[in-house]
Amino acid sequence: MKINIKKVNYNQFIAYFFLMNKLLDLLVKWTDIEIINNSVCKYCTTQYSLYSVEKEQYDKSSFKYSDICPTCIFRLIYSFLNDKHLYNRKDINSWKNIISIISEDYKWEVIEANTYRELLVDDLWFKYWNDFSDDIFDDFIKLYSVFPKASRLVFRGVENWDYSSHVGTSKNLYLSYCVFSECEDVYYSLKITDSKNVFDSYHIASSSNIYSSHTIGTSHDVSFSRNSVDCSWLLFCSDMNNCKECIFCCNQVNKSYMIYNTQYTKEQYESIKKGIYEKLWDYNQFIFLQQKFAEFLDQNLVDWAININNCQKVNGEATFFSNNSVNVYAWNGISNCANIMIWGDFADDKWEKIINSLEFGTNCENSIWSFSFGYNTYNVNFSWFIAESTNIDYCIDLEWCEDCMFCVWLRNKKYCILNKQYTKESYFQKRQEIVINLKQSWKWWEFIPWTCSPFPYNDTLAYDYFKVNKVIYSDWREETIDSDAIWVVIVKTDDFISDAILDLGWDEKIQIKWRTKNKEINIPENMQVLKTKEIWNIWEINNDILDKAIICEESARPFRIIKKELEYLKKKWFPIPRVHHENRIDKIFSDRPKWQMYVWICDKCSIETLTVFKNKPKYKVYCPACYKQFMYA
Ligand SMILES: [Zn+2]
Ligand SMILES: [Zn+2]
Repeated sequence: MKINIKKVNYNQFIAYFFLMNKLLDLLVKWTDIEIINNSVCKYCTTQYSLYSVEKEQYDKSSFKYSDICPTCIFRLIYSFLNDKHLYNRKDINSWKNIISIISEDYKWEVIEANTYRELLVDDLWFKYWNDFSDDIFDDFIKLYSVFPKASRLVFRGVENWDYSSHVGTSKNLYLSYCVFSECEDVYYSLKITDSKNVFDSYHIASSSNIYSSHTIGTSHDVSFSRNSVDCSWLLFCSDMNNCKECIFCCNQVNKSYMIYNTQYTKEQYESIKKGIYEKLWDYNQFIFLQQKFAEFLDQNLVDWAININNCQKVNGEATFFSNNSVNVYAWNGISNCANIMIWGDFADDKWEKIINSLEFGTNCENSIWSFSFGYNTYNVNFSWFIAESTNIDYCIDLEWCEDCMFCVWLRNKKYCILNKQYTKESYFQKRQEIVINLKQSWKWWEFIPWTCSPFPYNDTLAYDYFKVNKVIYSDWREETIDSDAIWVVIVKTDDFISDAILDLGWDEKIQIKWRTKNKEINIPENMQVLKTKEIWNIWEINNDILDKAIICEESARPFRIIKKELEYLKKKWFPIPRVHHENRIDKIFSDRPKWQMYVWICDKCSIETLTVFKNKPKYKVYCPACYKQFMYA
């Protein structure tokens, strides 16, 4: 099969390396972190650095340094996290129909998530113990494969969380993922913490009454808006700080009663607002207002190249109150970290020396190549779903454990290898033997292979964060996904979940799985179907709509309106959505810049700076210093 990947000529090649070196230098500039050496990624041939903070962690456990770039590390680890797609399954204990993140095409047994934690306390783990062979890596993959999986991911304290996954200490969630820290009433949303009444939104913290918005913190009553903090009552706004009652505005600080960045009196504002609301309920008018807002932003918005606030010596994006870290896409309270992406529970804000990892909870120190861990962990490597544990290598789903390696699903255990109990002395002796053996076979640093992921690649956040250029199906049909992206997916078989490769045309091919269709999970058979042109104005709609499926205008997939959503829309006079909830969240998701660094020339002072923008947007982008001056001077 011939893959159409552009050949790079010599001059482009030189220019690329020149730019790459510039980017790597800029990343550590102003931090105390040093570049130990630069290497070339075996998957994508991008140049990347080994940082001093990273070397320290690798050396401590005598792991070999990574041979893939941070972006490919994120891509690999995220391919083990399905925060977007659900399937119908049967629980292995009760044989009841349940909803799961794992498709039945995977043949892996699933246990209903609500009972999974209870089963964890039993010694069920014991029946799977095994001696290890010459290839413990292979033994571990076998152990992981025979273990039943939780139908959906849940941490402690969750109530009423239908069709949701990857959630903790929250209630009343529906088709939402990555929701933590006392959330309530969250619908069709992703990455929400400490918030109430959130619909169709992404990246919301400590806020309430949020509709179709992204990247909002400590704000209330915000709709169709983005990148704003400490605000209330915003409609179609971007980059606002401590504002209230604003419509169609951007880059405002400490303002109220503004429309199109123009100041009005309270009375004038209220009268114009009423006029806007009288249009909003009409779907065509709503689309027109939405387009007008996009045009307004293109002409007026000033965005910052990277969003780093109250930090010392930090380079990354969306990071606050942190110090001495590099390439971090996070939230707050991190120090001496490199190459991390976080979303989790932010109660205690302490993350130290975490390298090449993502999505973790509070209080974790000294970890490499791990995800979804935290709540008091120390020295957790190449592992996931680990809480309250210390000195863990290559383990999955452990709580209250110490000194374990290659184990799955343990609680209150010490000195275990492949779920088998050893004495303290024999554990450390065996451990040493295993490490020597793995080092000889060059495996003592590898993450679990891509093919061990229980999800097709396009069900995972790896696909959302790092889009692919196109998909080539086995019948040669091509589907373009994102023309900015470079990876190509070649689907090799013709199944619902097919074998595929993630390809750049180099020698290193990545074996993955690919889902070729959608299966609806929340639409009962024989449900009455409604076309979008049959939808009435919001105040004329009654509860009958709750029993019908609406056909999406874009994807033709059926979706439903739920009671809480209808109540909220009626209260706000917003129109009934016309597109499937997955398309809605995709749109919000793609509105934010990708989490990857590029070199940028500030539109104001022309200095070279880092940015998350790959291509120049129509609006201006300033370096952090110029942005602060522009907003607050
Ligand atoms: Zn790479
Ligand atoms: Zn500047």
